[in-house]
Amino acid sequence: MKIPILLANNDAAFTEQLIASFQQRHPDVDVLLPGQPGSDKVQVAACWFPDDTLLTNYPNIKFIHALSAGVDHLGESLLSAGLPICRIVDERQKQGMFEYALWGVLNVHRYFDLAAQNQRQNCWQRYKQKAAQDIRVSVLGLGALGEYVAKGLADLGYSVSGWSRSQKAMANITCYSGEASLSDMLGQTDILINLLPLSPVTKGILSRKLFDQLPQGAYVINCGRGGHVNEADLIQAVTRGHLRGAMLDVFDEEPLPETNPLWTTQGIVITPHMASDAGETVVVDQVAENAARFLRGDALLNPINLDHGY
Ligand code: NDP
Repeated sequence: MKIPILLANNDAAFTEQLIASFQQRHPDVDVLLPGQPGSDKVQVAACWFPDDTLLTNYPNIKFIHALSAGVDHLGESLLSAGLPICRIVDERQKQGMFEYALWGVLNVHRYFDLAAQNQRQNCWQRYKQKAAQDIRVSVLGLGALGEYVAKGLADLGYSVSGWSRSQKAMANITCYSGEASLSDMLGQTDILINLLPLSPVTKGILSRKLFDQLPQGAYVINCGRGGHVNEADLIQAVTRGHLRGAMLDVFDEEPLPETNPLWTTQGIVITPHMASDAGETVVVDQVAENAARFLRGDALLNPINLDHGY
């Protein structure tokens, strides 16, 4: 018997890619789109920014799979429904995130950001080279992605710290946990990389209060979610020179509107939510595997903790 999966995805091009991948790799899966005959009977939903009435319209759904690493896009109604929720965790995505973070770290460590700014003014200015161990990199979030990034940077010789909810022990990484310890880490940070999930607790964490705890000249890299950043506070911290700059991959509103002042703030680098993705073959493989497991009553891979919301 085929495995029916309801694909609730607000991105039409992504939906087409996923359907083609399911057809090619998982002929045992029957993909249904909302509104198609039979979709009201499906128990498994695979989602990217689903409609917040999904569970009202499809009350037979018993298991939700995010089509991504983060689950914040599922929205409050799905996250609080008490249904099991799984997400994508992928080794290649971890490597991609490390590459993105490394680009940002090297830009700052080796002054490539300032050299690029100087070039625009035909300005020849050399900077004294520092050793990697003299650059203090702190990672917010030591989960699947944050841990990989932190370890990769530590292996390259950077002085790495990391912050998580529960206390960790990792070789060559100074680990902090809990709200009370955050300012200790921030005070010893040259480059801050955000890889937290977006939740009611972490929303807006990259705000003036946090920036003020970073040393003068620190740099911020955000690859978590746009909802982590108070954009006005960030622009202010960069333009008044407290922060050397920022590299942003994710935004409250995507695509970032052409009129958003982040585009033109000197010292801010914008990338269009491209830090790292898992690729549709990995996504369909993990969704198909978990759907089969769910219907058999087997343990699920990569479930989120419903109490924590990530
Ligand atoms: P995980 O769930 O594996 O890890 C989350 C980490 O954040 C954990 O270490 C967790 O602590 C910590 N954390 C959560 N809440 C708090 C808190 N309140 N205080 C301190 N620490 C906290 O997530 P991933 O590493 O897989 O992904 C992280 C995020 O990266 C995703 O949610 C997504 O938003 C973003 N992302 C961005 C991409 C991009 O292209 N820009 C691509 C993929 C993901 P603990 O370990 O104690 O639970």
